[in-house]
Amino acid sequence: MSASPQGDSARPTPVTGVGGRHRKPRSARKRRVAAVMAASAVVAVGHPLLTAMAVPEADNGVEGVLRMALTAAPKSEAALSLIAPRATLGDSIAEARKLQRADDVRAEQARAAEAARQQVIAAEQQAAAEKAAAEKAAADKIAAEKAAAEKAAADKAAAEKAAAEKAAAAKKAAAEKAAAEKAAADKKRQATAAAAKPAASGFVKPAQGRFTSGFGARWGSTHYGVDIANKIGTPILAVTSGVVIDAGPASGFGLWVRIRHDDGTVTVYGHMNEILTSKGARVGAGQQIATIGNRGQSTGPHLHFEVWQGGSRKIDPVPWLRARGITL
Ligand SMILES: [Zn+2]
Repeated sequence: MSASPQGDSARPTPVTGVGGRHRKPRSARKRRVAAVMAASAVVAVGHPLLTAMAVPEADNGVEGVLRMALTAAPKSEAALSLIAPRATLGDSIAEARKLQRADDVRAEQARAAEAARQQVIAAEQQAAAEKAAAEKAAADKIAAEKAAAEKAAADKAAAEKAAAEKAAAAKKAAAEKAAAEKAAADKKRQATAAAAKPAASGFVKPAQGRFTSGFGARWGSTHYGVDIANKIGTPILAVTSGVVIDAGPASGFGLWVRIRHDDGTVTVYGHMNEILTSKGARVGAGQQIATIGNRGQSTGPHLHFEVWQGGSRKIDPVPWLRARGITL
């Protein structure tokens, strides 16, 4: 016994003891073909004979072949109907082979159709999975974008809150600084007012500062007043009440102010930077009339102060002020 490893398409293999080019049935399909062939011959004798025969269980031999032919319905019955009228073995073999090829084609078509159907199913399943994945990805993206937007909004709100708090703190600090500066200015003003407060005699010092030069002969001439040095802008005060008789430019003085007091004495203030009164004005004792400057014949910021007794005789201001409670 030998079997071809190449399957149905292999060349027929001679079988010892059977003779000729008979095929040896090797599989269910080949047995079925052989059965059809054998059945064709039987049909030529008479169909009723087939149905009347008792068929043993054996697979080989004529009886087995007949049994398989009977049980291979309905294809085999169709085969019988096709080949029966011909009643020749050669035609029957040809028809059987033709039928077998048709069967093979149909089976192959069915397998191909099934494979295609499975491919379609698989493709549909894959497409559904991809769609679901895409939808999930889109949903995840939307959720992520929403979360990012919410975070950005929260960050922005926090930044704005921080900026507002910072601005409020800066505003508060500025207000506190302004209040402190105002308090300092008030304190300074109060100090100035206190300094300017007239003595019991009704006189004040004409300016705060350093006594730098006295009345009398100086540098080959006569200095008709006293000098009090201080920084530019230092207040100059009326030593006592009176009427302003001059307020403006004057030779050698730069700017000057003259005040006639009630007893006829005139006081003179020179080199000032700024005049804060005007001719004809009535001023009180200690009232600010100007600021220290460096105008006219001056070698540095100072007040030049003179006292004209009776309105014309220039006297030393130091004893005149001392007699009125003021020390330079
Ligand atoms: Zn002077």
